[in-house]
Amino acid sequence: MAKGQISVQTENIFPIIKKFLYSDHEIFLRELVSNAVDATTKVKALAIAGEATGDVNGLRIQVKLDKKAKTITISDQGIGMSQEEVEKYLNQVAFSSAEEFIEKYKDQSIIGHFGLGFYSAFMVSDKVEVVTKSYKADAPAVRWICDGNPEYEIEAAEKQERGTDIILHINKESKEFLEEARIEGMLKKYCKFLPVEIQFGTRTESTWEGEGDDRKEIKQELPNIVNNPSPLWKKKPNDITDEEYKAFYNELYPYSQPPLFWIHLNIDYPFNLTGILYFPKLNNTPELQKNKIQLYSNQVYVTDEVKDIVPEFLTLLHGVIDSPDIPLNVSRSYLQADGNVKKITNYITKKVAEKLESLFKKDRPAYEQKWSETGVFVKYGMISDEKFNEKAVKFALLKNSEDQFFTIEEYKEKIKDLQTDKNDRLVCIYANNLKEQYSYVESAKTYGYDILIFDSMIDNHFMQHLEYKGENLSFVRVDSDTADHLVQKDEKKESVLSETEQNEVKELFTACLGDKKGGHVELKALSPDDNPVMITKPEFMRRMKEMQMMQGMDNDMFGDMHNVVINTNNPIIAGKLLKADKEKQGEMASYLHKLALLQQNMLKGEELATFVKESLSRLS
Ligand code: ADP
Repeated sequence: MAKGQISVQTENIFPIIKKFLYSDHEIFLRELVSNAVDATTKVKALAIAGEATGDVNGLRIQVKLDKKAKTITISDQGIGMSQEEVEKYLNQVAFSSAEEFIEKYKDQSIIGHFGLGFYSAFMVSDKVEVVTKSYKADAPAVRWICDGNPEYEIEAAEKQERGTDIILHINKESKEFLEEARIEGMLKKYCKFLPVEIQFGTRTESTWEGEGDDRKEIKQELPNIVNNPSPLWKKKPNDITDEEYKAFYNELYPYSQPPLFWIHLNIDYPFNLTGILYFPKLNNTPELQKNKIQLYSNQVYVTDEVKDIVPEFLTLLHGVIDSPDIPLNVSRSYLQADGNVKKITNYITKKVAEKLESLFKKDRPAYEQKWSETGVFVKYGMISDEKFNEKAVKFALLKNSEDQFFTIEEYKEKIKDLQTDKNDRLVCIYANNLKEQYSYVESAKTYGYDILIFDSMIDNHFMQHLEYKGENLSFVRVDSDTADHLVQKDEKKESVLSETEQNEVKELFTACLGDKKGGHVELKALSPDDNPVMITKPEFMRRMKEMQMMQGMDNDMFGDMHNVVINTNNPIIAGKLLKADKEKQGEMASYLHKLALLQQNMLKGEELATFVKESLSRLS
């Protein structure tokens, strides 16, 4: 037996490793199984090149748990190591970078704590044993033992078959890892799609044989294979059916609704990336559906935190990205500045845009049907990503109150005759709630105007985006002004009332406002058919207010700012009201004012109750 000293500057590195990686101890298994996969893949490659002999078919990795001995063993049938190699790799290579390792881990943000390698074994072990036999016929088997001090032992071993066993003597603090369920859970998380079969214990399968009374159960012990070595994203898109894509989605996210559609990513130059991204069916809690994309590196699970790799607006997508070209042993801030990552981000954005465009072109009705869900992604993407915006203007849709869909260009064409204002700007009129804004919508329609539906959270930002993007569009909500003023034109109607009469009307309604803040009486000469009194909420004020609310500001600078518009040409105002006696006039004005408030959903609580009571008493 030989003893040696591991070359490492810092005397006792292991306590430091343990401390830095405290929260992520479980990744040791991923690191060791990945090494076993590498060793297995290498021996296969050597066999193909004619440099290794022996059987390389059906090679498997085994993970074994011995509760009594308190060990976990990871065995492979890979290339193994000669004594020289053990000394070279496990001692020098593994430990010489210890200082570098500490440097890196100081900020604790290395993605998925990746590339820790062999020494992660010491996070959970008092002692690590490696028994290995090289594929080279003349190299004898060796055993290497290290208890976590920079000292190790090396000796000849009795191993006949090619490959490596890593035996971890689990330390007291890590005894959780001596539970089957824990290990199986970790294997399923980190090793689920590794390219070599991984066996963890056995499972029993029963089948039935015979008929009637002769029927008997046949139990069979089968190896428990925990992974799927050839995951769908590694296959050629042309060879995959829709059912397989859906089944894979279900494998990744059991119990989810089927996805809307998917994008198969597959590129090998200028970087290597494969994967499948799914557009999920959004439910009421999109926040919870965020950050579900899993990042792999050569089929090794790394993390499900991909916000630095996937553009923010696509974090609602689900699926898998696999790229060995995403640098993982760097800190997150470094990652964002990395050239490859930028290229990858752009590539994903481009692919998503192309997919949407092709769906739009291929089957527009189906695309329209899914718009309420995909629209959220698209709008968000247009706002937050210039490149995506350039592409998406072609397939972003606007929906009107008749459930018709238009591209932005189509819509401009549709409204240009009636909805161009005196400054040659196109005015889009929208409602965010067809029921609540019913009367406003109806009266806008009498002018031949089209009403868009903008009813999601993102729409506020989206229309500002369209306005700002110089599409020559402006947006006003259907209740922001009286219908004839929604599109500002030059023509002016004359009021049938004299100036004195107008002043009288104004006074009457100003009195109705009482000491309530926010209301402002405005006289307009509208069509006699338009309502006598209407409440409008000027677009600019309302947007400011909404913005304030979204930012959670409670100081309500704009109050419930609204206009009380009196149509001086309506016969009730021009005739009845002015002719009534003083007492009756006040009563009438108040009644008309309240009806208008009702239509805007602004009559509430006590005021509403009093109004109903008074209206009823009039009938009795
Ligand atoms: P990395 O895998 O990043 O190179 P590690 O610290 O995990 O670093 O391993 C160091 C080296 O030890 C590997 O490069 C490999 O040569 C050797 N090694 C580790 N595990 C095995 C194994 N199961 N079979 C053969 N060689 C191994």
